[in-house]
Amino acid sequence: MGWFDMIPAVLLDILACPVCRTSVHEKGDQVVCDDPACALAYPVQDGIPVMLVGEATSDIRKG
Ligand SMILES: [Zn+2]
Repeated sequence: MGWFDMIPAVLLDILACPVCRTSVHEKGDQVVCDDPACALAYPVQDGIPVMLVGEATSDIRKG
């Protein structure tokens, strides 16, 4: 159980990182940019990924 369980696969499929336009994937309670050089992580609120640069955190330091 988790927020990401509520994200339809089709929604993840059309989502893209607003910074580099790379697709994203689920990771924990966030969606993370697939580009390892970018790796921004976006929060998920009420099951909806918040694809805003101002809300993103870097996922690089988390390994
Ligand atoms: Zn990105």
